[in-house]
Amino acid sequence: MQRDSQIFDLIQKEHQRQLHGIELIASENFVSDQVMEAMGSVLTNKYAEGLPAKRYYGGCEIVDQSEQLAIDRAKQLFGAEWVNVQPHSGAQANAAVMLAILNPGDKILGFDLSHGGHLTHGSLVNFSGKLYQPSFYGVEPETGEIDWTKVREVAEREKPKLIICGASAYSRDWNYKALREAADAVGALLLADISHPAGLIATGLLNDPFEFCHIVTTTTHKTLRGPRGGMIMMRKDFENPFGLKTPKGELRMMSSLLDSGVFPGTQGGPLEHVIAAKAVAFHEALSPSYKEYTLQVQKNAQVLAKSFVDRRYKIISSGTDNHLMLIDLRSKDLTGKLAENTLIKADITINKNMVPFDDKSPFVTSGIRIGSAAVTTRGLKEQDMDRIVGYIDRVLMNHDNDTILSETRKEINNWMQQFPLFNY
Ligand code: PLP
Repeated sequence: MQRDSQIFDLIQKEHQRQLHGIELIASENFVSDQVMEAMGSVLTNKYAEGLPAKRYYGGCEIVDQSEQLAIDRAKQLFGAEWVNVQPHSGAQANAAVMLAILNPGDKILGFDLSHGGHLTHGSLVNFSGKLYQPSFYGVEPETGEIDWTKVREVAEREKPKLIICGASAYSRDWNYKALREAADAVGALLLADISHPAGLIATGLLNDPFEFCHIVTTTTHKTLRGPRGGMIMMRKDFENPFGLKTPKGELRMMSSLLDSGVFPGTQGGPLEHVIAAKAVAFHEALSPSYKEYTLQVQKNAQVLAKSFVDRRYKIISSGTDNHLMLIDLRSKDLTGKLAENTLIKADITINKNMVPFDDKSPFVTSGIRIGSAAVTTRGLKEQDMDRIVGYIDRVLMNHDNDTILSETRKEINNWMQQFPLFNY
């Protein structure tokens, strides 16, 4: 077969784009050579419906072992008693949990998408808002932070069956204890979606959701620095509170409901090549150098936030505890759309983002979201963060000056040559 140069030329171009620019999208990262190697391996050829040692296909002896390694390493990393590493993505992980524990029409309570929440937490354009009855909590207009007493008030008013915490664009830590108290007060289950800060939680830099949340979901490709994918975890398994029984009449444990929520509930065959890559990433995350990495991610985010504030940009909640921040550009008379489109001309990649109480549409937005996970993998440190904010400010303040934009782009391309990526 002739080489498919159309596709491989495009992959090469994308590789060059990643090498030349400054990557600040908060949900992205660069995986290691070994994670990449596992993902591109022969394991992609294998069907393995079911769970290790309980498959519906022959020839699974080897993938049983690699999937078991992924499970065991995830358990060790998060101190979890039960893990399912099969969800193809974060959205699939959340879908599997909801399918396992909710009936269509049940009430759910999540963090408002327009305040930083995720689509799968009840948005009306998503399965979670179409199949279930969502209500939302948000941030306070003055502080940009969540008021935990108010979340409880909404829970007591709405009486949801499931409360979801976690976000795509919230820069502060979560009070899981207060949320569990709210859940207990109304007999709800509490789900933490830690997709964004998972790496910082694994290394103990942020509050531990496992202590208080019944179920925890995450993606594996953001701060965790693994392949694109998802997983579901519990610190402790427990009897399901809905009285669902096995054919033999025994009460089903929550782990059994969640396993069925993934397969056959929402997925077919697991992606064993991706699961092996998850195992590699978890092994890396258990090493001392990963702890140093997450510390640097957090320090870099704090310096980025301070440098923006020094240049009179408005950060929602005035700072960050994790790897990201949301910047309200209204005081600079700019939109998120203009910022995203202009910064890309200088090879700086960010994404436009709604800010709480935004008056613009999701296609325009008043804000941008910025994260430090990818640039930290690349080896950039605190002193480099102020330089990045300097470039962003220069580009935004000269968004209609093509000469300045292209000069800045050249400077950035030269600078990035000092930070080679992996060998793939
Ligand atoms: N949950 C949260 C909090 C997220 O931020 C994201 C992705 O950005 C997801 C779930 C969905 O993950 P995926 O894109 O892998 O479906």
